[in-house]
Amino acid sequence: MAAELLAMPDSELFALADRVCRAEFGTSVYLRGLIEATNNCSRDCAYCGIRRSNPNARRYALSDQDILDAVREGRRAGLSSFVVQGAEDPAFGTGRLAGLARLLRSELGDDVALTLSFGTLSRSAYAELRRAGWNRYLLRFETSDPDLHLALRGSTLDRRLEALRDLRDLGFEVGTGFMTGLPGTNEATLVRDVALTASLEPDMVGIGPFIPHPGTPLARARCRGLAPMQRAVAAVRVLLPQANMPATTAAGSVAPDGRERALAAGANVLMPNIGPAAHKKDYELYPGKICLDEDGIRCMGCLSGRVASVGKRVDMGRGDSPAWLARHGRARVAEAGA
Ligand code: SF4
Repeated sequence: MAAELLAMPDSELFALADRVCRAEFGTSVYLRGLIEATNNCSRDCAYCGIRRSNPNARRYALSDQDILDAVREGRRAGLSSFVVQGAEDPAFGTGRLAGLARLLRSELGDDVALTLSFGTLSRSAYAELRRAGWNRYLLRFETSDPDLHLALRGSTLDRRLEALRDLRDLGFEVGTGFMTGLPGTNEATLVRDVALTASLEPDMVGIGPFIPHPGTPLARARCRGLAPMQRAVAAVRVLLPQANMPATTAAGSVAPDGRERALAAGANVLMPNIGPAAHKKDYELYPGKICLDEDGIRCMGCLSGRVASVGKRVDMGRGDSPAWLARHGRARVAEAGA
């Protein structure tokens, strides 16, 4: 099915994906407030600008208070879904991340959705984080090619998939996804990436284009533009009608209208960066990242205009995954937090 969808003419595929998205989510585009907590990564992924071997990355880590302040401000602006993302920083161990969830829950209660993205952890660590109050987790597999995965990330695809199964078993809303246009990939890889994503039945799917970073071994690789990303988003939308799918910042960094193109192909989420402006430029996974000088709350005004340009509207609700709600026997608009 993935192959058939990706073989369709782009205009037909995008129109189909847009119809499927609107049938499930109407014109809503959910906002998630993103906070990039640390770029001190202990890993060395070959495509990533904050890999430990890049001596030019200016390192930083937010305090729990910084994160709380950012979430508070986002909440005052009306957001009800937050994503705390970090590199694999040993200073952010399970105990600290669990404590952070309790801190955020004590302030915000159970009405908000709290998403964590801190890489591959043990099942027991995920269980502790779930109990502490995180209710969503993002873990992209990046490429479905096992050899390429190992070469680029230094760990196995199987381990990543095991972690995704653990997260699902533990009751998280689970997000995964991949990068399009990685060196060493082709159309067949894209088909397998889409098929693997569909087989995992995730609640959230993030798909972004590869953008070469000068501080990495892939500095001289070429960016293959937005087309593969847009086709992948559309194919996944058709295969997973209920998944929440962000129009990624990476898409907006490749072309000024990158996020609108993703929204027109079935994406239904945007993630304004609401962390401290002083550190936004330092979380440089790829070069040319947009919105670095903007105050995150002000970004939300800009995003409203972009969303309106594709005939949709910003929705400040939690945007719970319909599939997750069904799995857990919850009503679609009345989920209690954690
Ligand atoms: S992709 Fe993630 S785990 Fe890999 S080096 Fe970058 S921040 Fe670290």
